[in-house]
Amino acid sequence: MSTVSEHGALKGANEQAPMLVDQHGRHIDYVRLSVTDRCDFRCVYCMSEEMTFLPRKQVLSLEEIYQVAKSFTELGVNKLRLTGGEPLVRKNVMSLIEKIGKLPGLKELLLTTNGSQLEKLAVPLKEAGVTRINISLDSLNAESFHRMTRTGKLEKVQRGIEAAVAAGFDAIRLNTVILRGRNEHEILDLLEYALGLGINIAYIEEMPLGEVSDHERGDTMVSNEEVMAVINERYPLTPIEMTTAGPSRYYRVESHGSKVGFISPVSHNFCDTCNRVRLTVEGRLLLCLGNEHSMDLRKVLRENPGNDEVLKEHIIKAMDLKPLRHYFYDKDEPQLVRFMNMTGG
Ligand code: SAM
Ligand code: SF4
Repeated sequence: MSTVSEHGALKGANEQAPMLVDQHGRHIDYVRLSVTDRCDFRCVYCMSEEMTFLPRKQVLSLEEIYQVAKSFTELGVNKLRLTGGEPLVRKNVMSLIEKIGKLPGLKELLLTTNGSQLEKLAVPLKEAGVTRINISLDSLNAESFHRMTRTGKLEKVQRGIEAAVAAGFDAIRLNTVILRGRNEHEILDLLEYALGLGINIAYIEEMPLGEVSDHERGDTMVSNEEVMAVINERYPLTPIEMTTAGPSRYYRVESHGSKVGFISPVSHNFCDTCNRVRLTVEGRLLLCLGNEHSMDLRKVLRENPGNDEVLKEHIIKAMDLKPLRHYFYDKDEPQLVRFMNMTGG
């Protein structure tokens, strides 16, 4: 494989670690793959109640997703995250995860899940090579959990979380979206639940992705500053020097091992160190969560079946499209109509 574009550089095939570099000098070594847009939940901040999912033909096959994952790792990507929709509801997803887990060059295989299938899948996931898991949990009250997810059963998810803890992943993190008027009073309960299990927790600010039916985003968004102030009153937080090259800042609760993350994609500008791109389940390579810059890799895959070289050339070219920064809001108006389940959280 030779070099391709002016900026999106691929080093020669003989060099040990070819790297994807964008026009702004950022190395891309982390890819998030959405393996389905479908989900068994309908979280109020993520989906509308009546969702139309993509017709099967528009969705990448498991083989196509694997081909993309493999090509990225051959281009120096060493960290992959599987997400969705709910990745674990895709039929035969375990066969894909097992294959991806064996890719040479992969250092970390991560998964983001709502936890509904973890009771039965935690052990197989660990055996397939998944190193770390993020599990979404927004409430510890069965009724309010059901209201926020519209379909979810808290008990089942908690059993899934316990199964994941028992399976012994390198790390487990709860992902919590705090919404005003819904679960803002549970900030400390959720933290204490994580502390009790010896796992980490991250509070994510609501992002304006897609039109939701339940609420106006501006009315419900609770800033991480606010969440942090509530926690600090009871549990003083000590900042941890840890670079994720993403929109998260991490702290440790004094007297506990758990880390507490704050993910502020809207109010915190992390773009200058951004090292990641995303693949939607339709095969659109999104160069930025907060922009529409993308390349249609499904077209490339389907016009050149099984041709890894052509696929890699397009991936390299796509790096030139990565914008310098996100623009979630313009004059306070959300700019994106994409839903999070399409984008891959
Ligand atoms: N279904 C899986 C889950 O819920 O963990 C994976 C996909 S989900 C889209 C990934 C993460 O995105 C979840 O932690 C969820 O809470 C978060 N999320 C979804 N919509 C969001 C939004 N509008 N703003 C902030 N976070 C959001
Ligand atoms: Fe499903 Fe995850 Fe979106 Fe909730 S946040 S609706 S679990 S994809």
